Amino acid sequence: MTTHTTRMLIIGSGPAGLTAAIYGARAGMQPIVVQGLQPGGQLTITTDVENYPGFRDVIQGPWLVEEMQAQAEHVGTRILWDTITSVDLSRAKERGGTFRAIGDSGDIYEGETLVIATGAQAKWLGIPGELEFSGKGVSACATCDGFFYRGKKVVVIGGGNTAVEEALYLTNYSPDVTLIHRRDSLRAEKILQDRLFLHPGISVVWNKAVDSFEGDASGLTGVALTDTVTGAKSVLPTQGAFVAIGHAPATELFRDSLTLDTNGYIQVEPGTTQTGVPGVFACGDVMDHIYRQAVTAAGTGCMAALDAERFVAAQDFARNSALKVTV
Ligand code: FAD
Ligand code: NAP
Repeated sequence: MTTHTTRMLIIGSGPAGLTAAIYGARAGMQPIVVQGLQPGGQLTITTDVENYPGFRDVIQGPWLVEEMQAQAEHVGTRILWDTITSVDLSRAKERGGTFRAIGDSGDIYEGETLVIATGAQAKWLGIPGELEFSGKGVSACATCDGFFYRGKKVVVIGGGNTAVEEALYLTNYSPDVTLIHRRDSLRAEKILQDRLFLHPGISVVWNKAVDSFEGDASGLTGVALTDTVTGAKSVLPTQGAFVAIGHAPATELFRDSLTLDTNGYIQVEPGTTQTGVPGVFACGDVMDHIYRQAVTAAGTGCMAALDAERFVAAQDFARNSALKVTV
């Protein structure tokens, strides 16, 4: 069992955590990043990324985060393979007022500041074909992948705000969008429903559960459905299926110590990454249920590092001023 100490402890190694590390390392905060079970985060499970600025040609998600990691290490970040299983945000005096996290390995991590970048995961249906055709017709992010379905017939599965927004967004690319919902009414807000029903490019299929994703070597070709009222089976041909049944932020560790919003995301002071506990900052998808993009995660990662740096500078100033008064 080893105790690792740092001025900036970062939990999570997606674009948010790695960007916080790049800024923190360059500011002399000697950051430690604890990677978690998905080193590199969500981008490691996608292929083409076409909307991250700075690259004229399509790049690969896993390559992009590998580069971020190399950059973070190059400027002095320590990246450790462990998963945090508990945190203590009390800043106990006996350990110099640091935050403490304990890893699955038994190692202890102590940080003068804590940056939470644990991300979120799209919920999946868990049905046959979903994994097989992931990235080859099945997606959970219209903003990320909609562009790849220009001119093609697509479906969106779900009945909440996310599903309706994804369906509306996809009309920018697809002439034929079908929303598939398991009941006969939507959960989405009325204003979004109105826009959906008025849109000539969108149709709704009610009372249908998706049983499986069907396809061949070319990719997805259709979705197999069961009518939830009659039990009748059918297949709806499509080349793209967007699963939009919600996201789950990775905030279980902080349920008792930080304020979460009604959807379980960490609440921060508007315009900052400051959580309810001074010295603890949250960035990326774990505090953002709206944008959920690599570039916004990186942007708030940068903000978290700058916020942490200012916090440490203020602490140092207060400590030095107290020393001068004593002398
Ligand atoms: P994540 O990437 O979710 O990373 C979270 C990190 O936290 C992981 O490293 C995980 O291991 C770690 N972690 C979690 N719990 C713990 C713990 N207890 N201890 C230690 N570590 C922990 N965005 C785009 O901009 N363009 C795209 O083309 C695009 N395509 C996408 C395709 C797919 C299939 C998916 C799923 C997402 C896509 N996105 C895309 C969205 C983008 O990937 C996310 O917005 C972004 O990765 C969020 O970054 P993050 O750092 O906040 O969190
Ligand atoms: P959500 O509101 O929980 O809706 C999930 C939808 O997916 C529901 O319609 C649900 O069906 C369906 N669903 C869940 N599991 C399913 C399954 N296994 N098979 C088929 N369908 C399934 O999730 P969300 O739409 O992602 O929204 C999450 C939160 O974010 C909400 O509070 C929402 O208001 C908010 N949000 C707000 C905005 C906005 O303000 N513009 C945009 C996006 C999200 P049932 O209805 O039958 O349960």
